[in-house]
Amino acid sequence: MNLSSGAILVLSGPSGAGKSSLIRKITNHIGPSYFSISSTTRPKREGEEDGVHYHFISLEEFKAGIEEEIFLEYALVHGNYYGTSLRPVKQALKEGKLVIFDIDVQGHDEVQNRLADITTSVFITTPTLEELQNRLSSRSSDSEEVIKKRLEMATREVQRISEYDFLIVNDDLNVAAQTLITIAKAARMKIPAHHINEFVQLWAV
Ligand code: 5GP
Repeated sequence: MNLSSGAILVLSGPSGAGKSSLIRKITNHIGPSYFSISSTTRPKREGEEDGVHYHFISLEEFKAGIEEEIFLEYALVHGNYYGTSLRPVKQALKEGKLVIFDIDVQGHDEVQNRLADITTSVFITTPTLEELQNRLSSRSSDSEEVIKKRLEMATREVQRISEYDFLIVNDDLNVAAQTLITIAKAARMKIPAHHINEFVQLWAV
């Protein structure tokens, strides 16, 4: 699939690893970018806004979206649906932007299947499971039950780090942000296969 002159940066990793903080920290330092706002059926957390953090929609609306094939990818995560709408992503890619996704390992798999040519991926995690537990507990926006689910999920997701181009261990937020800025800048420079082929053709004697 060729959509663009833009590029995609996929960020995955356990909830609580600091993906959102990192995205906030890097956005002014990586050139034109677009953060893909996912749709989800999960309840809104305290401090979250509809249309900013997520589009919070009902299960019925989500299922209708699946039927209408509006999602580039979607997945069931911790018992709730999450999905990336294709249309705004297409638009941002056409405008040459770096499109940033905060999606889980299943979503990453799907994006790689469809848009590997222009995709760079990063797995972001805390140094240890204990540290993740501490961060989730201090966030206090999730119940014990939800935290338990997220920790179980994290141990499973970590097994799939090798599917990613880069790993960032988010020990120090400033250091992690600098690393992510470097990766984001390089992601823009990834050359899609068809451009390489065109270039090679030009050199054909
Ligand atoms: P949270 O509920 O903590 O906001 O997110 C839970 C998990 O869902 C995170 O791993 C996050 O990356 C993932 N997620 C958020 N949006 C999407 C999406 O559109 N698609 C997929 N596949 N995963 C998503």
